[in-house]
Amino acid sequence: MYFRLDLTVRDMQIENDFEIDYGGKHQIKVVLRTPTEEEQKIGHKKENPFCTITGQWLLKDQYLLAFQNLANKQMPEGSKKTDDWEIFRQIHNIDQDGNMKEKGCGDKPCFCQVNSVRNS
Ligand SMILES: [Zn+2]
Repeated sequence: MYFRLDLTVRDMQIENDFEIDYGGKHQIKVVLRTPTEEEQKIGHKKENPFCTITGQWLLKDQYLLAFQNLANKQMPEGSKKTDDWEIFRQIHNIDQDGNMKEKGCGDKPCFCQVNSVRNS
């Protein structure tokens, strides 16, 4: 399964976009790029480059299914509702039935931000 994390780095203007390919077992790759002119027009600053980190992991079926549930905005099957369930579900924008609302908590990274699962 591919994992991808998108971040914005603050106050680090770069002259050229670049990529670091760490390779290895999980094929870790880091890409830094300056926001495009269009992205700058909508408020992304030139001095705050985008950073995308990708990697690959081979997941057992049960974990893959849990990520697929998250991508479908559902709590994974068998999830336990702990004592702080009410607070937890409010923070991450989950309804009583375990359906996650599109926006989640807005924090990245967070389980509620999983938006697609591709296995290979
Ligand atoms: Zn969250």
